[in-house]
Amino acid sequence: MYDIVVIGGGPAGITLAKRLGNKYKMAVIRPEDHSLIYCAMPYVIEDLIDEKKCFKKDDLVTDSGAELIRGNVSSVDFDKKEVTINNDTAVTYRKLVIATGAAPFIPPIEGSKLDGVMGFKTQTDLEKIQHLVNNGLKRAVVVGAGAIGIELAQALKHKGLDVSLVDMAAQVLPNLVGIDFSQKAAEELTKNGIHLMLNSKVERISGKTCANELHLDSGEVIYFDEYAPCTGNNDETVKGLVVFATGVVPELSFLPEGKLNTNRGGIVVNERMETNIHEVYAVGDCADFKGFITGESAPGKLATNAVPMAMVLANNLLGEQSEYKGFINGAATKVYDYYVGGTGLSASAAIKEGFEIVKGYSQLTTQFPIMPGKKELRVKLLAEKNSKKIIGGQVLSGEPVTSLIDLISFAIQQEATVFDLIQLSYSAQPYQSFFPAGNAIVMAAENIAKQL
Ligand SMILES: Cc1cc2nc3c(=O)[nH]c(=O)nc-3n(C[C@H](O)[C@H](O)[C@H](O)COP(=O)(O)OP(=O)(O)OC[C@H]3O[C@@H](n4cnc5c(N)ncnc54)[C@H](O)[C@@H]3O)c2cc1C
Repeated sequence: MYDIVVIGGGPAGITLAKRLGNKYKMAVIRPEDHSLIYCAMPYVIEDLIDEKKCFKKDDLVTDSGAELIRGNVSSVDFDKKEVTINNDTAVTYRKLVIATGAAPFIPPIEGSKLDGVMGFKTQTDLEKIQHLVNNGLKRAVVVGAGAIGIELAQALKHKGLDVSLVDMAAQVLPNLVGIDFSQKAAEELTKNGIHLMLNSKVERISGKTCANELHLDSGEVIYFDEYAPCTGNNDETVKGLVVFATGVVPELSFLPEGKLNTNRGGIVVNERMETNIHEVYAVGDCADFKGFITGESAPGKLATNAVPMAMVLANNLLGEQSEYKGFINGAATKVYDYYVGGTGLSASAAIKEGFEIVKGYSQLTTQFPIMPGKKELRVKLLAEKNSKKIIGGQVLSGEPVTSLIDLISFAIQQEATVFDLIQLSYSAQPYQSFFPAGNAIVMAAENIAKQL
């Protein structure tokens, strides 16, 4: 009998093991040989880093004293407090944490099971794509122009493939930034030879055993037949790769029906990460949780949400009173020479939620404008008109944006108003900022204040 059994060895499971492994008799169960740094997978395909660098070391789990059990949990009996691994071995627990993540969503359209049609998450996915691109594959379609799709499309293009990036939205990065901040990213993709097909939904994929043609609702067809088949092991027939990066679905297939409260986003948890069953918890991508601003169930399948959820749960399991207040969803990506990020609500999401919003903009440079290495820096802030609280922000720059995104996230978390941000105390140095006379966040806040 274990004090704590964690199902899943991703960022959420690892965080729990690191915090609790030396305090409890604890086991982490996961099937794969290696836990992966998923965020780096596109850069493995691009040959920027070796695949092995993406493998997390098992001692992240075991160093603390937690036991790592290799296997797939095939069922759970909440009454007996028992999980069954690989349909044969039973393990009992006092407390159970479900941290099974989410799997790529592949729409159930005609042809979605053909060879060459896949998601992008596992080591097998990574190695299959690597194998194909390193053995002569010439053509790929990435469906979904979110951060993962964009990063993968760039990697495939870098490897010399003819790449189309398809999205049914009217813009790239539709869940990260507004259309104004997405345009530079779209331009960069097109400039670098990626065929961007927006307002386009994949209707069906045809072929006998492998993808041969991809049909869009616009009537356009992408043909793979004109390309020579990729040569190599089992993939002789694959002429075109279709990768869906269109979101994820929580991995709950091993759970008994009707016991745990679930929603579209996964297992419903409260602020302490408790489910409706006593001493059963859920964290990370498999859990459904609220947005910080709306208080309603919200998307938030990010490692940067999974880890704090696991931290909050670890604190509670150590006897503290810890609560997670909701997803803010700061995230960023790199599109060729540009970095783009967003946090909180986008304008369209805010309007959909019924907020009356005011937008503020600033455009400066990343260094003093007299410096030779200066790059573009654009900030957009969103405030709620009545409360004047910051509810979103976006950054586009020639330099990394995560620090600025985190600063805006912090403002949202602290429920700061536009006037709080106007008073932000900032630093300046010729290589690292605009002149002391101006700061992009402050100026965007001032721009909002003028409209209030
Ligand atoms: C290509 C890619 C790039 C990404 N980039 C970013 C990024 O830049 N920033 C960011 O914040 N997030 C990023 N993400 C998202 C991030 O990886 C996930 O949000 C995060 O991994 C979720 O962590 P988790 O621990 O909840 O689940 P996961 O990491 O999915 O881990 C789940 C674990 O549970 C195991 N499991 C599932 N079912 C069972 C079972 N029945 N029995 C036993 N074990 C089971 C799995 O095998 C796995 O070990 C990216 C994801 C991908 C795929």
